Formats: sequence, C-alpha cells, structure tokens
Amino acid sequence: MQNYKCKSVGIIGAGIQGVCVGFQLLKKGIPVTIFDRTDPRENNFKPASYGNAGHFSPYAVLQFNRPDILYDVPKMLFSSNGPLALKWNYIPKMLPWILHYLKNCNTKSMLHTAKNMHQLLNLSMDAYEEIFQEIDTNGLVEKNGIIYIWTNKNLKSRNLEIKVRDDLGIKQKHLSQKEVLDLEPNLSPVFDAGVIYEKAMHARDPHGILKKIFELYLKNGGNFTKENVNSTKQINENETLIETEQKIYKFEKTVIASGAFSKKLTDQLGEKIPLDTERGYHVHFKNMENLISRPVIFLDRGFGLTPMNQGLRAVGTVELGGTKNPISKKRVKYIVNCAKELLPQLNEHSDEWLGFRPTLPDFLPILGPSLNSKNIVYAFGHHHLGWTLGPITGKVISGIVAEEKTNLDLSPYSSSRFN
Ligand SMILES: Cc1cc2nc3c(=O)[nH]c(=O)nc-3n(C[C@H](O)[C@H](O)[C@H](O)COP(=O)(O)OP(=O)(O)OC[C@H]3O[C@@H](n4cnc5c(N)ncnc54)[C@H](O)[C@@H]3O)c2cc1C
Repeated sequence: MQNYKCKSVGIIGAGIQGVCVGFQLLKKGIPVTIFDRTDPRENNFKPASYGNAGHFSPYAVLQFNRPDILYDVPKMLFSSNGPLALKWNYIPKMLPWILHYLKNCNTKSMLHTAKNMHQLLNLSMDAYEEIFQEIDTNGLVEKNGIIYIWTNKNLKSRNLEIKVRDDLGIKQKHLSQKEVLDLEPNLSPVFDAGVIYEKAMHARDPHGILKKIFELYLKNGGNFTKENVNSTKQINENETLIETEQKIYKFEKTVIASGAFSKKLTDQLGEKIPLDTERGYHVHFKNMENLISRPVIFLDRGFGLTPMNQGLRAVGTVELGGTKNPISKKRVKYIVNCAKELLPQLNEHSDEWLGFRPTLPDFLPILGPSLNSKNIVYAFGHHHLGWTLGPITGKVISGIVAEEKTNLDLSPYSSSRFN
C-alpha cells in the first residue's frame, strides 16, 4: 500500500473541483487527463465555477437543512418576490431530493452538516494559499472582509447562525446599522444590523483565477480533452473507461467532478444518489463596482453584491428547477430589484447568467470512491460552497486516489449514506 502509485487518472469536469484535483494529482507524479465539453480558457466556459459570487467563505458552516428555514419555505415558495422559487414542471423529478431534504431538516442533521462542513472549511484557505503561492493573483483576490446584513424580521434564524458559529470558534464581528453604513456609506438603510467576517476575502474574477490554475496544471504536464463524456465504468481491477461522443479512453482511475451534471454518470454506475441543483443567477452593473468595498449579502433577500472586475455582480437566489429549464426572467428581475433596493443609483444591468449549484439534500458533498466501482472516485455536491472548497477537495481526492492515509474523518462524505 505504501508504495502504491496510480498510473493514470481521467477527470470528468474542469470546474474548480476537477482542476484542483488534477493540480494535486500531478504534484504526486500521477499522469492526468481532464475532460470537459468546454475549455476553461474560452469565453463560453460558464459553469458554476465561472459565475459564482466569489466569496471565500470558510465560516459558512450552516446550510439550508435547518428546522427554522423549513417553517419559512411554504411562505417563500408562494411569494413570486422571494429568495426561493420553484419551476413547478420539475417538482415530480425532484421529489426524491425534496423527501431527503425534509428528512434532514432537524437540529441533529443540521449540526452534523455544520461539524463536517467545518472540518473541510477549516482547511480550505490554507489549501488556496498553497495554490496562490504558484499563480499571480494580482487584481484577482481582495482581502477586505465580507458583510452580511439583515432586517429584524428573522432574528431567530440570525441568532441561530451566530450561535452555531460561536460554538465552533468562528470569528465574527456584530455590526449595528450605523457601523455597516460607516463601512459601506452608499448602501440604503433598508436593513437593521449585520455581521462582518473581517479576515474573509473575495475573488474579483473567479473565472480568471480558475484559468490561472488550469494553465498551471497544463504547464505542469496535465492533459486536457475537450469532449462531452457519455459514460464511465470500471472494467477490471486496474482499468476504468471514459466514453466520450468521439472515443473510448482507458485510465487506471476516474474522478467524477462534473458538478450538478454528475448524477447522469453515477446513475449509470447503479448508485441512487439524490444529487440535484439549486439554480442561482447573476447580472453585472458595469462600472459600478466601486460603490461598495467588499461583498455585501442581504440575508432576507437571499442575494448579494460583489465588486468584481466585470462590474458590480448582483448574485444569488435559489430556484429549484433542474438543469434543463430556461433562464427565468422573473428571477433576473428579482435580483435587479434587490440590487436597486440596496443601491438606488444603479441603472442598466447586463450579462444575465444562470448557474447550477450541485446540491445533495443533507448539504454535504460526496468525496470518495463509488460503492460499486472502487476505481471511480466522486468529487461533487459542494452546493453554495464549491468555490471555497475547490483546493481542499483537490487535496482530499488526490489522497484518496493515491490511497494515502489521512487524519480526516471522510466517512460523512461517503455516498453510502444514500444507498
Ligand atoms: C449563483 C451562485 C453563487 C455562488 N457563490 C458561491 C460563493 O460565493 N462561494 C462559494 O464557495 N461557492 C459559490 N457557489 C457554488 C460554487 O460555484 C459551486 O459549488 C462550484 O463552482 C461547483 O464546482 P464544480 O467544479 O463541482 O462544478 P462546475 O463548476 O459546475 O463544473 C463542472 C464542469 O463539468 C463539466 N461537465 C459536466 N458534465 C460533463 C460531461 N458529461 N462531459 C464533459 N464535461 C462535463 C461542465 O462543463 C463544467 O465545466 C455559487 C454558485 C452559484 C450558482
């Protein structure tokens, strides 16, 4: 076991997970080929890793499988002007996810998710720093903190978030409305209070950072194949196949890092994994990024503003509706209206984008070997935190592929919890 060295790995997906896994495998001297239907260096590369809010959020341990949120869901769903929306035509398909989700909306499950997200998030910034040593992040990363604001309407939820983070030793500073406005004087005073994570940083261009990591991966000897993958399977103890629309490729091991699209591949492997997507949106307000100095997230509205190189990015909301439904103009309008509520000086927006958060109903990712095909390793399901978790996922998954020992408890991330 000690001297085991994997001979070759194919990775399906060149989002932040796939590229970081590839980067770490090369460091171990293992040859890698990444497959993606789009090339990360091209302008049509627009998955979740491109269009996210750019927060590095190591503090975001609490997710949406919470009893307090459950009570608010029906109200949110029936309001066309709220942070959560449904595409009703997709509900029958999403039923397994919804049933699992409801089962996980209790205090025990919430705290299990928080503890095991914390295990990964706690290591996430060191893993990024390791990569940042090797790429030029000038103009791409800003360390100015991240602010969350709210009205006094949902104080029960806010107090719960603050308590869970306090219990885990996460540093946060409470702000009155005045203190928020001292930091961000252009905001309208439509909120009551907030919190700042002073040490938090944000990406001014997530796609720009991903491209740099990908280029480093290529420079270090990584291969890339721009093809759509139809399936993968293990054919014997030492071989897996990746079948694309053009060809069949052989690797000793395969990693599935296909974000919200991973389910198609895991279904073929005979595992019932309830992966689905929480759709999210962004628009840009060009040349308006200087109106704020750091990301501001308005929790009541489920949306935020991030100053980026492309402009001020207004981003967020959750829409349950699968990957095939078209972009919803109502959701875009909702985000634009929320942005103007906070910054009335905003005018025209551009670049309407829809992205797919890959989400499991217990809000933990799946990191580990397939139950039926041990040489196929899963690296997906990072929901709202996949941008933050890319580099630590790279470290964890490359260790699993290389069969190294770890002090981390990886059992909570196994797909066995659904099978
Ligand atoms: C609106 C929004 C805001 C967000 N904000 C944040 C944030 O601020 N901070 C944070 O930490 N996270 C955030 N996230 C979450 C984060 O962006 C995602 O969790 C993360 O990008 C997922 O990365 P990934 O590599 O797993 O998937 P993706 O980025 O989706 O990449 C998967 C890749 O696989 C490829 N692929 C899929 N199937 C195939 C196939 N069959 N053949 C070939 N290629 C295939 C796709 O083309 C794609 O390039 C946000 C997400 C959204 C939508």
